[in-house]
Amino acid sequence: MAFLTKTVASKSDYTTQLTARLDRLKTQGNYRYFLELHKNARKQPVFDFEGGMSDVGHSAASPTSDSQNLKYTEGVKKSATNWTSNDYLGMSADADVIDAFVAAAKQDGIGSGGTRNISGTTQRHRQLEKALAKLHNKTSALVFGSAYTANSTAISTLARAFDDCIIFSDAENHASMIEGIKLSRCEKRVFRHNDTVHLAELLAAEHIDRPKIIAFESVYSMSGTIAPIKDFIELAKHFNALTYLDEVHAVGLYGERGEGVAGQLGLSDNIDVINGTLAKAFGCVGGYIAASESVVDYVRSFGEGFIFTSSMPPAICAAALESVEKTAISNEIRIKFHKNVEILRGALREKNIEFEGQDAHITRIVIGDARRCRAITDRLLRDFSVYLQPINFPTVPHGQECLRIIATARHTEKQIFELVAALKACLKKSIL
Ligand code: PLP
Repeated sequence: MAFLTKTVASKSDYTTQLTARLDRLKTQGNYRYFLELHKNARKQPVFDFEGGMSDVGHSAASPTSDSQNLKYTEGVKKSATNWTSNDYLGMSADADVIDAFVAAAKQDGIGSGGTRNISGTTQRHRQLEKALAKLHNKTSALVFGSAYTANSTAISTLARAFDDCIIFSDAENHASMIEGIKLSRCEKRVFRHNDTVHLAELLAAEHIDRPKIIAFESVYSMSGTIAPIKDFIELAKHFNALTYLDEVHAVGLYGERGEGVAGQLGLSDNIDVINGTLAKAFGCVGGYIAASESVVDYVRSFGEGFIFTSSMPPAICAAALESVEKTAISNEIRIKFHKNVEILRGALREKNIEFEGQDAHITRIVIGDARRCRAITDRLLRDFSVYLQPINFPTVPHGQECLRIIATARHTEKQIFELVAALKACLKKSIL
């Protein structure tokens, strides 16, 4: 074409740049290696994977890691116990949930075939939304493909609804909430994590009539802290702000019916929007918001991330409904889950292994160095059949690299003691 006169960078320049950035990530120890799990609902939390490991070379979890020089041998089948899963209650392998999924899939087929507006709303979507609204004591709920999309869509859509809205966001908020704030193009103020005084200062600096949203989580998934929900609600009332609460790591786990931390504290009525996931304690996939009729109707009508995407497969709705209702009826599985968390912490204390995150169910051991973190998890997998994924930047800030341990309702006491013995051996300073 005649108007293309000047030579531009060749295609290989793009590749070189991408490769250089990826190489830098590897050198820093922050490259993400995925272990391929062969899951088995009957053996959970134990899974199989392919790849024996011996010294010198690469590991299954980090095929090109230079941190431990472990060699990955293809074709060798091994088992390991999973300590990373957010399937907190093991509902992904629950027989009733699986049956509900299979029956609905046989009846309805797999895909919904459309967006919610174009033949993608079934009676199963409606039933699930009713159950979620009831769980949170709200009039309405809206289901999304994930809690990530629910957060980014609901926050951006709501914030754009009000002229000159300003969003107050906790410094440790999840990427999905940050994405929602960015998409809204509204002004934002970030308050120090769980810091009521800082939030009050920031709120006080704005005109009382300016629309405001305070966005925060109940349980912080990486630090294991719990927000001062009651104080935030009081501030919201005082400064005339809406409250938006992410309960992704709390639904199913806290409260008599698994309604989350706000519900457990009897505060749901004072939270304007509750966000939850169906992918963690409920063992399925998908996310939602529960709120007043007008909020839900507004997001349903204006939220691009809700409107312009195919709806959840109806069979997933059926499975999630079974899971939400089953975990609401009985507290037994929640009690087992929290007891396992306590057994794990007791065993760690006994071995003098320091940990953080005590406010909630997340137990983390800070390592503070990405390469050492990976070296430890490599050793755990190779020598002790313990699977922990290093938590590195950008999930946590540099220097906060950690092991994040999740004891689920399905772990046995024996498995917990084996984990702690393995940790004791691998946390020795000599590893890297
Ligand atoms: N909110 C928080 C706090 C999370 O930790 C996550 C995922 O880990 C999400 C939202 C997104 O949830 P989902 O996996 O359903 O997209």
